[in-house]
Amino acid sequence: MISNNTDIEIIKTTDSRINQFDPQNIQFGKLYSDHMLIAHYENGAWGKATIEPFRNLSMHPATTFIHYGQSIFEGIKAYKNEQGEALIFRPQDNWKRFNVSAERMGMPSVPEHLFMEGLKKLIALDSNWIPSEDGTSLYIRPFMFATDEFIGVKPAEQFTFMIITSPAGPYYSKPVSIYVHDEYTRAFPGGIGYTKAAGNYGASMYPTMKVREMGYDQILWTDAVEHKWVQEIGTMNVFFVIGDKVVTPDLVGGTILAGVTRMSVLTLLKEKGITVEERPISILELEEAFKQGQLKEAFGTGTAASIAPIGSLTYQQHLMELPDVSTWEIANWLKAALNDIRYGRVADTHHWVVKP
Ligand SMILES: *Cc1c(COP(=O)(O)O)cnc(C)c1O
Repeated sequence: MISNNTDIEIIKTTDSRINQFDPQNIQFGKLYSDHMLIAHYENGAWGKATIEPFRNLSMHPATTFIHYGQSIFEGIKAYKNEQGEALIFRPQDNWKRFNVSAERMGMPSVPEHLFMEGLKKLIALDSNWIPSEDGTSLYIRPFMFATDEFIGVKPAEQFTFMIITSPAGPYYSKPVSIYVHDEYTRAFPGGIGYTKAAGNYGASMYPTMKVREMGYDQILWTDAVEHKWVQEIGTMNVFFVIGDKVVTPDLVGGTILAGVTRMSVLTLLKEKGITVEERPISILELEEAFKQGQLKEAFGTGTAASIAPIGSLTYQQHLMELPDVSTWEIANWLKAALNDIRYGRVADTHHWVVKP
């Protein structure tokens, strides 16, 4: 739905909290920047968006998303280059994916102008909240939820779109221990696995708690039908280096989220001349490759952790330990290559970086 009001009103805070922000001691998700964007959808159209001082929301207890879960989000990061300019990594791709999620969840699409100009204006206004130390960033969270004040079950007609931001510290990812789950599922054919819907996260909390109790960090999810084909780790896409090839599950079937980091990694690998395969990968293939000494590297990809190395995989009592991460060529190269682009240290030949 196209909004007639394309200009975004800005109401600046008179009470900045920037002095609470200590770039040397960032606790992710605790502190939010001074401003937020908010826009409402009703009668089939988006109203005027405003950027205003960060504040709490107040809502009717029957607000429909709380009960029936029409709620989606995105995750994007802005980085600071050596000149002190803000660089946002591939936000257009998040905008497109946001609308893919919106469609599947029966929610209105958010116009490009509202998402992109809103995001850029917000980041420009709060750019002093982007830390500049290596590895740090400003995490950007666009989200939309259904706001009908109605407890009856039906697709909602009113929605709120917002963007908030929070500084993120350097993400040191020690290799994670992974439990290959063959009982719980994250996504199934015909479901919402390919969307960034709040409910996908809600449903993963209990299985995650359970594997943490067993001493693992994260789950490698398998398919819902045979529990044989690997999908994602936790809320990250997953890659394996088998021999001299890189393999990752394909997106066919709608059970895997099309990560922006995943897409970027595939592009960088292909440009470097490394063979990459997007195809179904079974746990049996991984076990076989491990036995042959061919399972060289395994890692998750996502905006939060960037590249998260996998230290071990456990499948039905069988522990597969990967070689020491310091010896990995591909994951370590990818992480550095991505960071060079994000922090503007190399030419942005892919046009991935957007300045607000
Ligand atoms: C967000 C997310 C990812 C990673 O996507 P990026 O765009 O790379 O951040 C992967 N899997 C799931 C389930 C996700 O929600």
